Amino acid sequence: MKIAIIGAGISGLLAAYLLKKKRPDASITIFEKNTRVGGNVQTVQFNIGNSHHSSTLRWADLGVNDFNLATYKNILALLKELKVPYKPLENSAAFSTLDGSISYVIEPGYQAGSRAFTTMPVEVQKGFDNFSRQAPLDCQDPTFTEFSVAEYIQYRNENNPDHDPNFYPAAFVEYNLYPRINGMYFVNDTAPSTMSFVAIMNHYCLQEGFGGDSPERVYIEGGCQTWIDALQHALIQQGVSIVCNAAVQVLGDTSGVNILLNHSEFEHFDAAIMACHASTSLQLIQQGITSDMVQVLSQFSYNNSVAIAHTYAPLLPPNQAHWRTYNLLIHRDVQLRPYTISYVCNRHQNDANHHLYQAASEEYFVTLNPAIPIPEEYVLKQFDGTPAQTYFKHNMVNAKALKAQKLLWGRHRRGVQGQNSIYFTGGWTWGTGLHEDCYHSAQQVVNLLLVHLLEPEWNTLELSKLSA
Ligand SMILES: Cc1cc2nc3c(=O)[nH]c(=O)nc-3n(C[C@H](O)[C@H](O)[C@H](O)COP(=O)(O)OP(=O)(O)OC[C@H]3O[C@@H](n4cnc5c(N)ncnc54)[C@H](O)[C@@H]3O)c2cc1C
Repeated sequence: MKIAIIGAGISGLLAAYLLKKKRPDASITIFEKNTRVGGNVQTVQFNIGNSHHSSTLRWADLGVNDFNLATYKNILALLKELKVPYKPLENSAAFSTLDGSISYVIEPGYQAGSRAFTTMPVEVQKGFDNFSRQAPLDCQDPTFTEFSVAEYIQYRNENNPDHDPNFYPAAFVEYNLYPRINGMYFVNDTAPSTMSFVAIMNHYCLQEGFGGDSPERVYIEGGCQTWIDALQHALIQQGVSIVCNAAVQVLGDTSGVNILLNHSEFEHFDAAIMACHASTSLQLIQQGITSDMVQVLSQFSYNNSVAIAHTYAPLLPPNQAHWRTYNLLIHRDVQLRPYTISYVCNRHQNDANHHLYQAASEEYFVTLNPAIPIPEEYVLKQFDGTPAQTYFKHNMVNAKALKAQKLLWGRHRRGVQGQNSIYFTGGWTWGTGLHEDCYHSAQQVVNLLLVHLLEPEWNTLELSKLSA
């Protein structure tokens, strides 16, 4: 069995790893466009501190930085299997306007109703407590499947167990819910109110632990690159080839897939797994793309974001005592920019409990899409002198995308997958694309591929005929 995987983000690496587990004899080549593997996982390193006296080697995750091991069951098992070191991060948050006129914190261990772990204004806390209890139940209820966040809030204010028209007070929505949604990486570019309620709850439940056991949020020691390196190492040991700087074109039909590499060499594979974005697949598949594929893939749209490691404090709450691991901006008087959040890295890396860093008090941050520009001199520099910043492309998870995910997988394993020997995996294919979602997607695609290769007639079936 000879399989090509296009894209070496976590989804492509996981697909290779899981396939090798089931079929150790499979020959797998991963083709990656970039010079590095990891996709949205990107760790940078730099020296922090006054170089005249001392400086300390530090790191920051610009993209993926946080796994909730209480819910990421598969990722946890894999971290253990690969012996990837992880530590609890400080699970705290601050919400503030840029001018600090509204500013409060939520401390680790916060539970609904507990004032000891928050300085939230009373109305905000009331809404937050109600939301923590009610919303995780509601997102399982088919009534709310198609609701936007604003529709959900309105519905619950009109219908709730307490008959309270202020069940979710406006202050909670404006100063907590919408700022939090604006800090999620898959937010759309219109407004948090228009986001899919189910999509944002996937993030609240899977990453933040709403509606389940207490969250166990961790960071990977040395940054998430350590995790990618461990997975890559394991794959190479198992004989998987990883080709970087690869420009590929994909030509599929029912008998397999030809990959044209760097405009020169053709290589034949039994199947290809597209582990890049939907929009990229639309460009790369030169032959064998079906109308079903086009219909599904074109439903996903993408946003570009910038992440910068820096020391520019005006992006944090003006009251330094309020700085927390995750700092959310209350967009009051500033023009709304979706996906804005700042991390205090020392807290993310749980500085207070870290013997190496207790003495190194210099604070540094990572900000996604800064609301105000960061002067160049505050941007941290990597060892080669380049700024510690990067650009990410991420799909927006809206109602359209969630529906398209269902079409992709189909019912009874009869979705778009496998037509003309081409398969799809990636964060965009499952939920909101957190790492645990990527695992499920990779696992599912490997299962499908193995079934289909034993039953080749699957490849010729059209979704339109199947769903009739
Ligand atoms: C800023 C940010 C922070 C996040 N934080 C978290 C977090 O803390 N925890 C969490 O669980 N999830 C987080 N996520 C979600 C994250 O996207 C997923 O967890 C996961 O990393 C997605 O992996 P992927 O492989 O599906 O996609 P990607 O990481 O986007 O990988 C796609 C790969 O395809 C490659 N590619 C693109 N074009 C081509 C081409 N033409 N040919 C070959 N290869 C190509 C890309 O270079 C890339 O390597 C975050 C996302 C973002 C954007």
